[in-house]
Amino acid sequence: MGGGGWVRHPAGAVNELDRKRDRAPVPAAWDYAPAPEARDLVELRERYGLFVGGNWLEPSETYTTIDPSSEEPLAEVGQATAEEVDNAVGAARAAFDDGWSSISPSERAKYLFRIARILQERSREFAVLESINGGKPIRESRDVDLPLSAAHFFYYAGWADKLEYAFPNRKPKPIGVAGQIVPWNFPLLMLSWKIAPALAAGNTVVLKPAETTPLSALLFADVLRQAELPPGVVNIVTGDGSTGAALVKHEDVDKIAFTGSTEVGKSIQRELAGTGKRLTLELGGKAANIIFDDAALDQAVEGIINGIYFNQGHVCCAGSRLLVQESIYEPLIGKLKRRLQTLRVGDPLDKNTDVGAINSRQQLDKIKELVAAGEEEGAEIYQPPCRLPEKGYWFAPTVFTDVAQSYRIAQEEIFGPVLSVLTFRTPDEAVEKANNTPYGLSAGVWTEKGSRILAMAQKLRAGVIWANTYNRFDPASPFGGYKESGFGREGGRHGLEPYLEFE
Ligand code: NDP
Repeated sequence: MGGGGWVRHPAGAVNELDRKRDRAPVPAAWDYAPAPEARDLVELRERYGLFVGGNWLEPSETYTTIDPSSEEPLAEVGQATAEEVDNAVGAARAAFDDGWSSISPSERAKYLFRIARILQERSREFAVLESINGGKPIRESRDVDLPLSAAHFFYYAGWADKLEYAFPNRKPKPIGVAGQIVPWNFPLLMLSWKIAPALAAGNTVVLKPAETTPLSALLFADVLRQAELPPGVVNIVTGDGSTGAALVKHEDVDKIAFTGSTEVGKSIQRELAGTGKRLTLELGGKAANIIFDDAALDQAVEGIINGIYFNQGHVCCAGSRLLVQESIYEPLIGKLKRRLQTLRVGDPLDKNTDVGAINSRQQLDKIKELVAAGEEEGAEIYQPPCRLPEKGYWFAPTVFTDVAQSYRIAQEEIFGPVLSVLTFRTPDEAVEKANNTPYGLSAGVWTEKGSRILAMAQKLRAGVIWANTYNRFDPASPFGGYKESGFGREGGRHGLEPYLEFE
């Protein structure tokens, strides 16, 4: 017996145990009793208007938003036209001029604290809605999206009356009206990343949620009502890309904050060139998750799984390229495949679910196209046996081995539960391969050597680098990219700067 009650084995015996564990049979499907979260925590309206100036305006056109796990319609939602966007911008301008920009900063903080607390109080309701409309597992919306959304409002509430301290000798003041366009992968969290710093800095907002996931933003309007936020400080216009484009073009918008695809980000940058409007872009990624031979392998496997299958891989900073040191390739891939067999794919509202539904048919088609390209180009595909539901949009967790750097699956953002595995021999080769991408949003490094982590972090061209973990977020920590992953930072003190002017 060793200290603390642990049984000590001779080193050889431990290796033997390890070897056996890898060969032990894994059930093809784990049997879990269903554990569904209550869907009736959310009361959906049949039809939603546009939230402008504190009122619900009847939209001139509507579309139907659906549940991607069943393809069932959920509600009719406004498709805002350029004229309706103009109304929303007008309401935001009036609110900015009528007092929001000049009320005391501690008063602004009060509203942000209220919003944070109400989000906490209503977190189960929001989590269910986020899962119904977006397809993500309730475990994630409950344990990640909602706590982080509230945390962002708490965090920026704390900065609202400390701007002079955050930027000493620079006399910060708000910019004016911020147009904010968010994607469908983290609808409420991206809304929080954008609205919280904008309001803390004294700006007003027109927010456009993604076409496929408008409902949590519309429920958020009710949080604003509860918090008694003055009308027009936050306006929400739903619709497709044309609504976003109208917001970008609007002359009276002072700043655009966009999260989404690199393609649309580039078109926005072109549109705004020479206008003097401020812009921040948080775009795509093709992150390398790098595993050295001295890493704790089981821990690394959890990090790989979390890196790519979290939120069905609909994550801009997903660890979609796995770089494995050659000497541990076989044991690591063996462990990874075994772990993959235990992932439960299915009903997003079931608390046992690990991988939910793909957000839309369009995204499913894109994933299928890239996976077919990977097979054609010669990579070897592995998918664990799993039963996918018949209705809705689903894709099994997938690993590609034998991937060359030139393959599309190693170059393009798939934005789905698909991992491409490459190998390396030396740290320099790992850096070279990791940086061989037009993107530069994030990376992961797994090693027990602190010095190696620091050396790699110096050389990797990525805005966020995780060491011995992956996909960890904190409102105090700035997030953003290099190269085609965009520019500007969200989170932390850095996240305030794009919403401020300095005298
Ligand atoms: P988009 O970039 O089209 O969507 C992001 C947001 O921008 C949505 O609100 C969208 O509205 C809006 N939008 C679309 N066109 C315009 C425009 N011309 N001007 C202003 N706003 C616009 O992403 P998709 O949803 O089309 O996804 C395509 C790919 O982009 C994915 O497969 C993925 O690779 C990548 N992506 C990356 C994200 C990231 O966080 N880095 C997030 C989402 C997607 P609408 O929803 O109505 O189209």
